[in-house]
Amino acid sequence: MKSLTGYLWFNTKTKKAFINITPQVEELVKKSKVMEGFCLVNAMHITSSVFINDDEPGLLNDFDVWLEKLAPHTPTSQYQHNNGEDNADAHLKRSIMGREVVVAITNGELDFGPWEQIFYGEFDGQRKKRVLVKIIGD
Ligand code: ZN
Repeated sequence: MKSLTGYLWFNTKTKKAFINITPQVEELVKKSKVMEGFCLVNAMHITSSVFINDDEPGLLNDFDVWLEKLAPHTPTSQYQHNNGEDNADAHLKRSIMGREVVVAITNGELDFGPWEQIFYGEFDGQRKKRVLVKIIGD
């Protein structure tokens, strides 16, 4: 069995961001030389997500608006967690959007459904954070 562990680092200019990380993950799959296997991609912070969806700007904006309705950043005093910090909404957004994805590797490539792309979702950015990529297979 082959395996490869990689880390992707992010330090977003804005507090919130959606970044298509599919090219970086594909590069690691190629580097692993795994032809048949699995690729796990997970956010290593509890205020950011990894999820799969369509890379369509309107949809990404819809996600942002929807998340802000579910867990508005302000007023920050509405959250018990904001006792010395102000990122309770980011924890909630992370839970909704998920921690990780697993994608099958078939014939040496990520085996996506139509329009599927892997995203890093940042909800409390402007600092260094990372994503784990673990690839296993033959
Ligand atoms: Zn917190």
